[in-house]
Formats: sequence, C-alpha cells, structure tokens
Amino acid sequence: MVTRFAPSPTGFLHIGNARTGLFSWLYARHHGGRALLRIEDTDKKRSTQEAIDVILDGLEWLGLEFDGDTVYQSQRADRHAEVARKLLDAGHAYKCFASPEELAEMREQQRAAKQPLRYDGRWRDRDPSEAPEGAPYTIRIKTPEGGETVIEDAVQGRVKVDNREIDDFILLRADGTPTYMLAVVVDDMDMGCTHIIRGDDHLNNAFRQIQVIRAMQGVEDGWEEPTYAHVPLIHGNDGAKLSKRHGALGVRDYRDMGILPETLFNYLLRLGWGHGDQEEFSREEAIALFDIDAVGKGPSRFDMKKLLSMNGNYIRKADDARLASLIAPLIGPEADEALLTRAMPELKTRARDLNELADGAAFLFKQRPLELTEKAAGLLDDDARSRLSVIADRLRGETDWTIEALEANLKAYAEELELGLGKLAQPLRAALTGQTTSPGIFDVLVLLGREESLARIDDQTG
Ligand code: GLU
Repeated sequence: MVTRFAPSPTGFLHIGNARTGLFSWLYARHHGGRALLRIEDTDKKRSTQEAIDVILDGLEWLGLEFDGDTVYQSQRADRHAEVARKLLDAGHAYKCFASPEELAEMREQQRAAKQPLRYDGRWRDRDPSEAPEGAPYTIRIKTPEGGETVIEDAVQGRVKVDNREIDDFILLRADGTPTYMLAVVVDDMDMGCTHIIRGDDHLNNAFRQIQVIRAMQGVEDGWEEPTYAHVPLIHGNDGAKLSKRHGALGVRDYRDMGILPETLFNYLLRLGWGHGDQEEFSREEAIALFDIDAVGKGPSRFDMKKLLSMNGNYIRKADDARLASLIAPLIGPEADEALLTRAMPELKTRARDLNELADGAAFLFKQRPLELTEKAAGLLDDDARSRLSVIADRLRGETDWTIEALEANLKAYAEELELGLGKLAQPLRAALTGQTTSPGIFDVLVLLGREESLARIDDQTG
C-alpha cells in the first residue's frame, strides 16, 4: 500500500496539514507500505524555493522521512495534459469553446434565476467544427448525468453526491495548463497511491477526482480507485476552525516557541486519534498502534495549554546534553554546553518550553556585577545584606563544596538566627542569580562554583 502527503507551498507548514501528513506517514509505516511526498507547486507565485524549504524543514524536524524521491507537481504538466488528451480521444472529455465572457454571462443568468452556479454543458454535445477556426478551447470532462457517486470513506463512512451536482469541470485550460483537479488525480494514480488521507475540506474534490479515475479506467491500466480517508479539520478551543487568531499556525512557529519535535508529533497524533486514554506515545508505539479506524469523525480542538504541559513532560524526559545543545544558541555565545548539561537535571524540572529553559539557565553565564531584576533587588535590604556577608564568610571557610555540606552550613546559620532556611535562601538567590526563581539554591552554588559564587555575593555586600 502507498500513501502520499501532498502539501502546497504557502509559506508555512500548517499544523492541520502536518497532522494529515503525520497520519499518512504513520498509516504507511504501520502497514509496512510506502509513504510518498508530493509538493503541489503549481502556483508559481507562492511556490518559491523558500516556501518549499519551509515544508521540507518542518517535516524533517518532525522526523517524518518520506520514501523515494519527492515529486514536484509542476514538473508533471506534460503528463497531466497527456491524460486530458487521452480522455478527449476516448470520448470521455470534450472541447469547450465558451469564452470567459460567455461563461460569466451564464453564471449571471444562473444567479438571477437563483440556480446553482455551474457549467451547463453547452459544448458537451456540440460539434467542435461549429467553433470558429483556431478558437481557444478548454478540455472538460464528461461527467455522468444521472445516478450518484458514492465514496466509502475510511473516516466519514458512506458519503454520496447526486451526479447532477458535479458539472463538467475543466481538465486542461485554454493555455494548455492542467487544472488542480486533474493534476492531483493523475499524480495520485501515477504514484500508485492506494490510500488518500487528507483534510475533509477535500471531500468535495474526491467526488470529482473519482470521475477522472473512472473515465481513465478503460483508457490506461492502473487506474484503481484508492481508499479515501478525509480527516476532520482542527478547530480552535472556541470551536471555530483554526485560524491565525488562535495563535500560531505553522510548524515553525511551534519550534520557535520552544516546543520539542516529539511533543508536536505526539500532540498532532492525539488530535483526532486515540488509543484508550493513553496520552503519550513514542514514535515506535505510534507506528505500532496507529490505524485509520480510530480516527474520530468530529473536529478536534487545539489546546495550547495542553500542548505546553505535554512539552514540559517531554523536556523532563529529554536527554540533558541534547537540551543543552538546543538552548545554548538561545542564551548566546557565552553559554557553555558542558555546564548546561550538568545543570540540566535541575533546570528542566520547571520549564514548559525551551525559551523558558534558556531563561532559567541564563544566570549561569551572566557577567558580574549582575543586573538584578526589580524583585530580586527588593529582597536585598540592609538586614539581608549583612546576613549575606556572614554567609559569605561561612562559605569561604567551607572546604567541602557539595550540596550536602553547603546545606548543612546554611542550616546551622539559619538555626542560629532562628530563621527559616527560606529567609536566607531568597536573598542569596537574588545575589547569585539576579532573579527570584532558579533551581535549588545549593544546586546554584555548586553549579556556579566557589569562586564565582563568592564573587557574586561580594558584589552585593561590598
Ligand atoms: N495540496 C493540497 C493542500 O495542501 C492537498 C491536496 C490533496 O491532499 O489532495 O491542501
């Protein structure tokens, strides 16, 4: 079996598309088939190399590697035209000489009569010799005039349309270029696709694409109707179709927000597909468990809060050195990956995204004297500063610079003062990190080391 993902370069990889791409890929992997990729780059203005790279990068980032060579639809225009000509020769298509003005007038009349706007078949049975010599023409498919077209959709169930609603749509434009409707189906068939998994906004197209397949069946071998699976679209958490106003839409936006690829992979998987109440799946589990019959019929809701909390879980599961290398560039050239890796077990306990993680780690690399946040500066009143001097002296005498020894040392001082440890730790944190939040204070001391820690305290008490 063969699936395909067929995005159009629009400048971003929409997460709704990424999800159907993921479903197509998983379906093929689960069934041991092939997952193909086709870039639908026929809109010359939008299909810049940059826009194509956005898609390829996004898929690579998500870890979706497709099989075989990527197909570029624009390079197949000759083949699309060939199919249109073959349908013409076989009598399944015809030349339409109606000018754009004439068609506009036809629609105007339909509108006035409150009829559906669709091509009325005026050239279907006319002899092309009635057209003026050399007049431009489009090639239109001859669709069935009666009956209905039924699709057993793997997600939607049985769906059908009255064939009178399908007009004789254009296959080849007057300038010889193929229409989208033709190109998609020719490519699907030539690529040997057996399963078309895509958004349900394409369901209406399926009824038309099937007409091309059926018409071609007597003309060429290999035109088998594929299984369709039209997946419901993603909605925002207000129930409306996902749009810009719900926030980020592109896969790259999520990467920039500091979402890990495995989080987005898992989150998209769970949007519309489920396996009991399990929330998190490894790639291997997803491949083993995914199937189309567990894809829901109703729209799924995108929930940013859930995505972030899932991302926090994945950050905690992620390898420390990997996280260090991901956040080092966010901190700057001063960031030291070895130190970040050592600090990571503590740093990653709180962060929900990589930017937060980088913010939480930045204290390690700050230049002295530290710039304190307003809140941190507020903690350093005279009392606090004099206690910090005592702490500095005690720490200077500490021979064992370990979490345990440092903790015992400060606890003893807190008991002496009859104060809670927090009362000492908060100003110390302000002095050491310039912030009011950080990993545990003894971890901070150990990570910064004796010299840097004492220097930072002295900066505030000196
Ligand atoms: N290129 C179309 C899109 O990006 C998808 C076509 C299809 O899957 O049939 O919406």
